[in-house]
Amino acid sequence: MKTKYIFVSGGVLSSVGKGLASAAMAALLESRGLKVTLMKMDPYLNVDPGTMNPFQHGEVFVTEDGAETDLDLGHYERFTNINLTRENSVSAGQVYETVIAKERRGEYLGGTVQVIPHITDEIKERIKRVAKGKDICLVEIGGTVGDIESLPFLEAIRQFRFDMGEENVIFIHLTLVPFLGMSGELKTKPTQHSVQKLREIGIQPDFLLCRTDRILPPDIRSKIALFCNIKAENVITAKDVSNIYEVPLVFYEQGLDEKICQRLNLKAKSRGLDKWAKVSQILTSPKNGTVEIGIVGKYVDLTESYKSVSEALVHGAIANQVKVNLKYIDSERLESSDVESELSGLSGILVPGGFGNRGVEGKIKAIQYARSHKIPYFGICIGLQLAIIEYARHVCGLNKATSREFSNTGEFVIDLMEDQRRVDRLGGSMRLGSYRCKLASKTLAHETYGATEIWERHRHRYELNNHYRKILTENGLVFSGINTEMDLVEMMEIKDHPWFLTCQFHPEFKSKPFAPHPLFVGFVKASLKSKLQLKKPTKKETAKTSSLTSSKNMKKGNQGAKHGLRSHV
Ligand code: GLN
Repeated sequence: MKTKYIFVSGGVLSSVGKGLASAAMAALLESRGLKVTLMKMDPYLNVDPGTMNPFQHGEVFVTEDGAETDLDLGHYERFTNINLTRENSVSAGQVYETVIAKERRGEYLGGTVQVIPHITDEIKERIKRVAKGKDICLVEIGGTVGDIESLPFLEAIRQFRFDMGEENVIFIHLTLVPFLGMSGELKTKPTQHSVQKLREIGIQPDFLLCRTDRILPPDIRSKIALFCNIKAENVITAKDVSNIYEVPLVFYEQGLDEKICQRLNLKAKSRGLDKWAKVSQILTSPKNGTVEIGIVGKYVDLTESYKSVSEALVHGAIANQVKVNLKYIDSERLESSDVESELSGLSGILVPGGFGNRGVEGKIKAIQYARSHKIPYFGICIGLQLAIIEYARHVCGLNKATSREFSNTGEFVIDLMEDQRRVDRLGGSMRLGSYRCKLASKTLAHETYGATEIWERHRHRYELNNHYRKILTENGLVFSGINTEMDLVEMMEIKDHPWFLTCQFHPEFKSKPFAPHPLFVGFVKASLKSKLQLKKPTKKETAKTSSLTSSKNMKKGNQGAKHGLRSHV
């Protein structure tokens, strides 16, 4: 079958949901047995988002092959079974870098190097390379139509349809149709203008996805159709949803996949969206109530920075038929505030990945609280490193324990490896992408994964310093996951605790709603259990139990305060 191409652009304003819409369309097409791949074209000049501030750009998503990519790739992987690589994420910076390097090597034979055709050719080449062997290649163009930066990409896709033929390429444009409460009307003008802007540069969209808070009535669809030169049945409502996993269902109900297949003359089997319906149904009415989980980090003002973590927690919640209420806790504020008042009431505490020393002591306080109050704790990357520092300081008596990332002096229980230190001076010493990890038997890690060998994705520079392994083990830390090739600790846990598990890698990148990651399933399960155990009995229940068990309680002494016990504080 000849490869077909779908290009998705966005108009009116940013953050309307192009990434999710693209992921949802890919999910629908994949459910029809088509071989689909997805690409993201980012118009910024950074070569990749690895160096970008999470406050500005949200999370950096890491692929199996270790590429640091845009967070939309996370949506693509979560919604489909596709494993993306560095080739699926393209930035203007990369494209220009390649073209300029070619120019320096003299590959343009003295010609004048220009945006058209050299930059546009490089963009088209990259798309064709990724699309090889696939039925459909869906390409999302970042930014908003009208931006200067995205023009070379839009020009490249205009040429693409010209080169490949109308029957093989479609353009889908996502806009916003706001409802104005004052006049009680849905407003179509921003959409009209956005499509005009596209048509000015030679792109006539085949489909419009209109983000709205309500289903578009037929007269509004006809109006948009007329002004934008698009068939009314191809004006699709992208209605707001209560959870993102309903998006494929919204498009499915309007037959979007069917229409795309017809337009591209694609033969595909009939649709099967049962797994999405099931996920949505659990999310709307979970059987087991709610569970409160705290995420302690420094990027809490832009929760997009923790996108994969928060989604993986939702997946863990789906598996446990519960709704997870996330509370984002500013680690910097925690340094000077009362931990008890900030953290009490949480059934689970998670410290996600992070860089730099800001807020680090606040995270350590949270970890100490979780450990000593026996609240389920899940530490990811820096969440493992800080849990080790906390244990070294408060249990092993290494008061000066720290990481070389935060300080020039102290006991570096977390450090750069010897050979890494040499590389570091030259830059680029990050451990990125998928690595193998062996799990020790009879550990929580082993039990939770149900496997002895796993592969997980990394993005960090520092490691546990093996010099301290002995003293930490003697004091009760369990190193349950090891990279045997490099002799590095990948997972750490504490035995005398309901659930205290940490990992050097980022399991959140591999979790999907219909294939939740075992560590998130285990953590949510433990949090739910902790909530049920801590749930205060009603007055009636208290009266009943105290009369029945008072003698027992007296014998047990202080055991009722189990959750307040401080074994090693
Ligand atoms: N900053 C730490 C390191 O570089 C942890 C990184 C992370 O949490 N992703 O090792």
